[in-house]
This record gives sequence, C-alpha cells and structure tokens, in this order.
Amino acid sequence: MDNMNYSRFINAVSAARKLSPIRVLTELLQRSSPTMISLAGGMPNPDMFPFECANFTIKGGPSITFGQETMKRALQYSGSAGIPELVSWMKDLQKHLHNPPTANYSPEQGQMDLCVTNGSQEALSKVFEMLVSPGDTVLLECPTYAGTLASLQPLGCKLLGITTDQHGAIPQSLSDTLSRWKPEEAKDPSSDIPKVLYTIPNGGNPTGASMTAERKMEIYQIARKYDLLIIEDDPYFFLQFEKPWAPSFLSLDVDGRVLRTDSFSKILSSGLRIGFLTGPKPLVNRIVLHIQCSTMHTSTFSQILVAELLHQWGQSGFLAHVDRVIEFYKKQREAMQTSAERWLKDLVEWNVPSAGMFFWMKLKGIPDSHQLISEKALEKEVLLVPGQVFMLDSSVPCAYVRAAYSISTPEQIDQGFQRLAALIKESI
Ligand code: PLP
Repeated sequence: MDNMNYSRFINAVSAARKLSPIRVLTELLQRSSPTMISLAGGMPNPDMFPFECANFTIKGGPSITFGQETMKRALQYSGSAGIPELVSWMKDLQKHLHNPPTANYSPEQGQMDLCVTNGSQEALSKVFEMLVSPGDTVLLECPTYAGTLASLQPLGCKLLGITTDQHGAIPQSLSDTLSRWKPEEAKDPSSDIPKVLYTIPNGGNPTGASMTAERKMEIYQIARKYDLLIIEDDPYFFLQFEKPWAPSFLSLDVDGRVLRTDSFSKILSSGLRIGFLTGPKPLVNRIVLHIQCSTMHTSTFSQILVAELLHQWGQSGFLAHVDRVIEFYKKQREAMQTSAERWLKDLVEWNVPSAGMFFWMKLKGIPDSHQLISEKALEKEVLLVPGQVFMLDSSVPCAYVRAAYSISTPEQIDQGFQRLAALIKESI
C-alpha cells in the first residue's frame, strides 16, 4: 500500500510554519528532571501569582485538590500539544474506543497522533486553515454546523453540499457530486478536484442524524477512490443513546486519511474548553505548529483539572459518567418526542434522533421559517433556531427549525411546543 502524500493537502500558509524555538524549550522543560536548572524560556515566576490552593468537589466521588505545587504548574505555560498525562490518557481512550488501524503505523505512514485543543472548534478552524486555499472546493453535509460554515466561508472556498437524510450524508449523493471529476485528477496539482470532506457522523448539528456503519464504510471507500481527507467532527459521539456505538471513521482508517475532532464540551464542561484532534502525525504536527504561534496551548489549569479527574476515574469511571449523561439526554429526548406528538403532529415533520441534543423539524405549509422564528416566536416567548443558518446558501428559503432538548425542563419543552403550534396555526 502506498503512503499518503500529505504534502498534497497542506496549503502554502501551513507549509511555511516553522517550529518556535521558545515553545520547543517549553516542551523540553515539561519533560525534564526536577534537578534541571533552567535559565531558558521566558516563564514568569509562579510564586508571584496570587492563587495558592484549590479544592474541587466532584459529584458522586472524591475531591480533587490543587496543592501549592500543582497550582503553580496549573497557572504556568505548558507544551502546545497538551500536558503529557492528558495526551497519553486520551490516546489510550482513542485506542480503546476506536482501535485505529494507524495506531501502529510509522509516522510517514500516517501514525495516529493526538493533541489537545481549545474545544473541538479550535481544532476544526485550524484544520480548515491548514487544508483549504482560496478557490478550493470543500465537500460537506447540507445542512451543517453553523460554526463550521463560519470557519470555512472567509477562506474563499466553494462549498459543495451532500444531501442528507436521517442517517446523515447519502453516499450516492457524494458519488454523484464527485462524478464531475475523474479520480486520477487527484494526482494532478492543477486540478480543482476536492480534497476535503467534512462530516458530523453522530447526532448531527442541526439534524440530529447519525450515520450507520454501512454508510461510513461506503463513504470511506469513495474517499479512497478520490483521495479525500475526511474530517470527522464528532462532539456528540459520547451522546449516542443506543449501544453498541457505530464504528467511527477513525476506526476504519487504514490509509491515515481521517482527522477526528472530539470534545468534552457536552460531557464534562464546555467552559473549560477541552477538545482533541486525532489523526495522522504529519498533519497533527502542522496543527501543533499553528497552536504554538496562536493560543500557545489549551489552558494548563483546565487540562490538569480534567487529567486529575480522568486519572481518578480511570476509563471505566469515565465511561460510567458518560452513561449517566446519556441517560439524562435520552429522557430529555423522550420528553421532546412526547410533546412534539402532543402539539405538533399535523404541523411539523421530524425524525427522532438517536444521539445528540437536537430535533430538526420541517414546518408544513411554511416555506421559510426565518420570519416566524426570528420575530413572531420571540413575541410568543419561544426560542428556536431558524434552519437557514445551517444552510450552505443562507439566501435560500428554509422550512426547518432546530429545537434543542438539552437545557429546558420537560414542562418547558411542552409549553414551548404548545406556543410553537399556536404560532404555526396562525401563520398558515
Ligand atoms: N462541532 C459541532 C458539530 C458542534 O455542534 C460544536 C458545538 O456545538 C462544536 C463542533 C464545537 O464544540 P466545542 O468547541 O465546544 O468542542
């Protein structure tokens, strides 16, 4: 099997990134012995920081204490790829959950690597900035996550939408879209053949759709045929309600063509900003170079807090926590389903999501939800997101709305849908 030619995917800006000598020293210090005398680097003296100790009470478990030494470390700069104990814990988890074929490859073959990011959003935006040049064509599901559109649109690329249904992207639609190019064009640097496919495989935002294993396999084969990189944005992976969980693209990745973003935002905290990028080492390395000169690293404080919790829990404790979170969201989903049946049955079409936090609802007899949701719904005191914001072309009318069952109580959901039903009846 030929190795992937990663330089084909990296744009000129990313290719020009160089190691920061100061950041290399920081990495070195992170790994050096306690007897090392460092006159290098520009680290401030943490003795001058005002925070001394902290104690975090953990629901249902022992507490985490930041003594003086841990606190000093938590308040200090750290390596750009993430603190070693969090990186290694996560690598083990990825191996356990996804068993990536690339785990034992050599770096040139696209060996699996991982870095910590400020939520998955940082990983996504940096991945796009590494891969996309003005004029490129990027393939993605339509509709898709508004934060991805916001990252991609300023890069001057064309967005080509893949049709979706309740199981996510439809492989035939991807094949049809790509049929205007010949697979051999992937070897021709002057061709405008797409190089990147972005997908949300579970509990899609906004559709709630989850891709089946068969579809993933079909899409992976199409990606091989056209030499596409797959960006697997999976923040709702841990909110899959049915077990066994579908295999990820990472778990199918025999070539080293998958860049996977994970997030702790939906299960541990969104404000701590902890996400992960997993993928072939040559590409993860490029992202770390970008981190070096932008955010420098994800908050050391957040990373240590999360790493301490994960080490205390172990993998089984972590997965038991995930199960508790799933139970909560599953009940919320059921509450939304019951209320939708009660109030919206003849007014709206929807599919019941098997993961994530969203119902994607098509308003019958209302070709464009925008005005209804942005103005009239506000007056009636019910907030939803008009579907338009998730469309590749936001000027096209959209009959859909996104309803989240994450925060509201079942009573509030019920009242919200009652208000929405009244609104729709007034408008058709
Ligand atoms: N990707 C998708 C599909 C999302 O829905 C979100 C957040 O809602 C993100 C990425 C970013 O999440 P975070 O940066 O908090 O990990």
